[in-house]
Amino acid sequence: MTRQAIYLDHNASAPLLPEARAAHIGALDLVGNPSSVHAQGRALRAVIDKARAQVARLAGAERDQVVFTGSATEAITQAIVGGAKAFGVDAIVVSEGEHAAVLKAAEATGLPVKKVGLDDDGLIKVEEIASALAAADLVGMRLLVAVHLVNNETGVIQPVDRIEVLVGPSPHYLFVDAVQGFGKVGLEFASRAPDMMAVSGHKIGGPAGIGALLMKGHADQVRLIPGGGQESGRRGGTESAAAIAGFGAAAEVFAERFYHANVSELVRTAEDGMRLIAPDLVIFGEKTDRIGNVTNFAVPGLKNAVAMMGLDLLGLAVSSGSACSSGKVGPSHVLAAMGVPAELGECAMRASFGWSSSLEDVEAYLKGFGEVVGRHRARHGVAA
Ligand code: PLP
Repeated sequence: MTRQAIYLDHNASAPLLPEARAAHIGALDLVGNPSSVHAQGRALRAVIDKARAQVARLAGAERDQVVFTGSATEAITQAIVGGAKAFGVDAIVVSEGEHAAVLKAAEATGLPVKKVGLDDDGLIKVEEIASALAAADLVGMRLLVAVHLVNNETGVIQPVDRIEVLVGPSPHYLFVDAVQGFGKVGLEFASRAPDMMAVSGHKIGGPAGIGALLMKGHADQVRLIPGGGQESGRRGGTESAAAIAGFGAAAEVFAERFYHANVSELVRTAEDGMRLIAPDLVIFGEKTDRIGNVTNFAVPGLKNAVAMMGLDLLGLAVSSGSACSSGKVGPSHVLAAMGVPAELGECAMRASFGWSSSLEDVEAYLKGFGEVVGRHRARHGVAA
């Protein structure tokens, strides 16, 4: 087996879809600046317009609600840092399970940041958001609530609908990091309560380095990069038409490809198989609704750094959870927030499947997992 032959790290970055690759490469050959009025400029503008419609369709958004950014991290920072300023909020509310992009942006506002907890299943404690809103209302403070839709580490689907009911009719603002839900669950941005949502290209089989901020009309003043008036004045900087074209093409086909890969079934087979090999297996978030493509688990005593190295040598790419800074194998703040003891957290690994995954991948993975667990047992004198 060749190194990294089986890729089970779609939540870190999904493989490029062929349609996205073709659109991306096609647009790289176009010359000009999409803001120019000549024919070349207009051709690039048409590429961007098409992609905007494609991304809007998948997000259930109006075209003019889609603002292309350099990544979801940038979109998140625009929503939180720019939103705090434009809306004049007094404090930010986030959950302890947010991606670093949200946590760091909240810190960067310089405002007080209230962190609400996760329960043992990994669900945001909605009652803590309700208390924060009630406390703010008493003193006339205005809040920006920033939560995620689907957790990147555990796949837990958050009760955003309940949070919308609380924040929607209030004078407070709601931002949703929808990166891990985009294309997998309906966002229906235009008809739902959030003021803004962020999505990313490379999580849906588009190129990396492209994202979008979905913004309702009243949020149009939310800025991070003023610049030369691109994106209707909402994000300055000459657009990367090639990256945008790849993102758009991915948005066009991703949901169908993802559905056809039958990832929930693959994850179920993987979890059942791992349990047969390691009956003491712990699966995080197992008792609640999870997105079907990810499993986050631990074999008590088998450290993730050791297991991942063993799997990597067998050509199996999994991750230790949030794998956004390359090579990082550290404790997970998400699992810690769920009350997972540090010792067990050091054994946590994530396998995430997607549009290119197959049953053969699961079979190869289970074979490798069996070898790694078997070696661990032999080393530690544990009976099989
Ligand atoms: N939010 C979540 C939940 C993510 O999983 C990620 C990436 O892992 C991001 C934000 C950042 O996305 P990008 O890599 O496009 O900046």
